Order: sequence, then C-alpha cells, then structure tokens
Amino acid sequence: MTTIITNDATTLHTALTAPLSYAIVADAEGKKDKDVSATFTIENPAKGTHITFKIDRPAGFKTMLVSMMTGSDNETSYEYVGSMNRGLFIKKTDKDISANASTKLNAVRWYMIELGKAIKGENSRIGAVNLHHSGACACCGRKLTNPESLSTGIGPICGARL
Ligand SMILES: [Zn+2]
Repeated sequence: MTTIITNDATTLHTALTAPLSYAIVADAEGKKDKDVSATFTIENPAKGTHITFKIDRPAGFKTMLVSMMTGSDNETSYEYVGSMNRGLFIKKTDKDISANASTKLNAVRWYMIELGKAIKGENSRIGAVNLHHSGACACCGRKLTNPESLSTGIGPICGARL
C-alpha cells in the first residue's frame, strides 16, 4: 500500500528526515538505537512517471543512506547512490553508479532542492509532483493504518516524539 503525503513542506521534511530524527530521539531518551528504513515514491502526474527511493539509517549512523529502485522488485531492486543529511542535501557516492540510478538521483535531488525552497517560503515547483510513502512509519517501520498517520508518513507514537 502506498499513500500520498500532504504537500505541506514542513510535513514532507519531517517524513523524509524521520529516520535521522529517530536517532536523536533515541539518544535523548537513553534508548538503544536501531536500523530504520523508509521507502518513498515521487510521482509526476503530468508525465505519468514515478521514481521510488529508499532511505536507510543503520543504527549509529548520523546520516541517511539513499538508494534508488532500478529494477522490478520493490523489496530488493535498489542501488545505493549516496548519503543525505537533515538539510536534504544528497552527497553522491564516490563509487560508480548506473546511468539509470544517476538519472533518478538527479530527479530526487531536484525534489529535495524544490522542497528546501518551499520550506523557506520561496517559489517552488514542488506542487508539480506528489510524494507517496510505503504505508509504514518512517521512524520505526510499523504499518500505518489511521488516516492522520497515512497523511504524515509517521505513526502516532513516533509523531509525538519528533
Ligand atoms: Zn513509528
């Protein structure tokens, strides 16, 4: 199941950086950190295209690892492209990546830049695309079922902590 996250820039930023926020919350609460993973799809309705990418933050990591879906299996067909910080800046890996992943990385970077503009109240083209998520909490990976959680991408327990 996937669902559209609201186009509110602050909510989008919170959802996209939730795996990193989880580490900060766990640290503050003296809890053991854990691996966190979230999957998102950017849809361009005008072009009828979409790009799926995954954000992984292994326990103890202070950045998020970004992978692009480049094959047909939405569980396993991902290629690592670089790391992302809370400022939504994606630093490309020094390793070679496929042309397919490179094209998708450019599109996701564009999205993050446009989202950054929207957060600052600048003119942004973010409204041209929709962001869907996998129906799992971006913090802890639990399945989301209530409408409010489905619109934010974050479950009620994690949402209360962020
Ligand atoms: Zn959660």
